[in-house]
Amino acid sequence: MHFANNLPTLRGRHWPAAAVLLFVFASAALAQSAAPTAVLAPANLARLARGGGPLPEGHAVVVRYEGALEYEGHYERPHATRAFHSLRRVAVALPFQARQDWTTWSDDDTARTTETTLLLGGRVLRRDAAGTPFRELRGSEAGDAVFAIVSAVPALAAAHVRTWNGRGLAGGPRSSFQTQYTWPDSLGSAEWDLDAVDRPYSYAVLRDDPRRGAVVQEAHIYGASAIGGREWPDSLRSLGFPADAAWTLVEHRIAVEDNVPLAELAAPDRVAPATPAADTTARLSAIAPGVWAVVLPDADTRSLAVEFSDHLVLLETSCDNIHGERLRAVLRARFPGKAVRFVSFSHHHPDYAGGLRPFLADSAEVVCAGAIAPFVDEVAHANFSVVPDRLWRLFPGGFTPRIDTLQAGRWRHADATNELVALDIGARSNHTDHYLVFWLPRQHLLFEGDLGFATVDGSLRASSRAGGLLRAMDEAKLVPQTVAQSWPVNGNPVTVPYATLRALAAERAKP
Ligand SMILES: [Zn+2]
Repeated sequence: MHFANNLPTLRGRHWPAAAVLLFVFASAALAQSAAPTAVLAPANLARLARGGGPLPEGHAVVVRYEGALEYEGHYERPHATRAFHSLRRVAVALPFQARQDWTTWSDDDTARTTETTLLLGGRVLRRDAAGTPFRELRGSEAGDAVFAIVSAVPALAAAHVRTWNGRGLAGGPRSSFQTQYTWPDSLGSAEWDLDAVDRPYSYAVLRDDPRRGAVVQEAHIYGASAIGGREWPDSLRSLGFPADAAWTLVEHRIAVEDNVPLAELAAPDRVAPATPAADTTARLSAIAPGVWAVVLPDADTRSLAVEFSDHLVLLETSCDNIHGERLRAVLRARFPGKAVRFVSFSHHHPDYAGGLRPFLADSAEVVCAGAIAPFVDEVAHANFSVVPDRLWRLFPGGFTPRIDTLQAGRWRHADATNELVALDIGARSNHTDHYLVFWLPRQHLLFEGDLGFATVDGSLRASSRAGGLLRAMDEAKLVPQTVAQSWPVNGNPVTVPYATLRALAAERAKP
């Protein structure tokens, strides 16, 4: 599903190491039973095909599901979710063609938009709403799209799994009541389970997420019915882990239609190319005496390194381990004698707290509101057993971080070189329950995460949250000269005079 950029979110399901290891061992045991290029015996493949029934040729078949989506997005506190209604229509036909129209809406929504995804052989196309152009999907975004559609139609799943025959597909009966197939899916190691009568009941992928570690993405079928020579799930429960969100979708089938014209599965006339790979060069620059900005253009984030006499304090960690490691490498190269002794982030959303682990591995102490300490602890205990990161290699099983919580909403750190104050402006952020902004009194500089400004259609505007930020500064009796911001970076000035932000916010507040 698609959400506007300001909505998106957080966290994966933190799977107990034992559950993940079971999954790995089950997959590994089966994978070892056949060399990666081996093909399955015809009888075994036939069992797989029986699990869904044939895909129609010359026409399409359609299934509709309705249900409820629990979405963990960029909300007010860690693990907060919002409820949405969901309507999904999936049309499929040979050869491996499918179209999904997915509508999600909340009780407060006045308009509904339908996101459409097309699978055309090896291509995955998506448009966010009717009338907008289709674009080509790549990487995990394409993998997620395939997972969602394929797992809703057992016949399509069976066809999909068979494409891995000779490319690592392994498996067969494990007992009199279970048959299991595994393959090296583009998202991770995948598993497809059939019951005693070869009815599919689970499609799962063990993924390695650069922020959450091992997550098991699953679609579980509860009951199935044979309609028109195919098996259809009565109910489905699916888990999704897009890069900066997590969701659970529970659906039941409301209709199956056969003999649907193929026309709707046709390729669109125009398709926008996939977004080119973004610039991965980290850029470090001084923005004030003893204050360094590190921009990671592909994540669109700016972090601040505040220099003290023999160490650094890092503010905002970008979105995940990959970006956190990049931040760390830049700082170590530029300040070889100064380790990051404290690390902090404005709020728990992925673009700010996602890159914490590389700094925990260096024993940095985390500065946050007391209420956010359990979240930090959870990040430190994320399961990275499948593809271990530096923290997991140092502390397999989890790490207990050192946390320095704010007292009365404040944290101050100073030496002869520099001075830094973290302030929790809480509800004034109009964004999250706890929200830290960073005040550098000697430079009269305010650094905030995503509350200040953005360039829209070529002109600089105050964000809808800027008013609350300014009020919080007034209440704290702070008068900055300059404001720097973590997100968005691309297309925006590095700093904005505080007076300008105030004027823009006043402009915005006019009726
Ligand atoms: Zn945010």
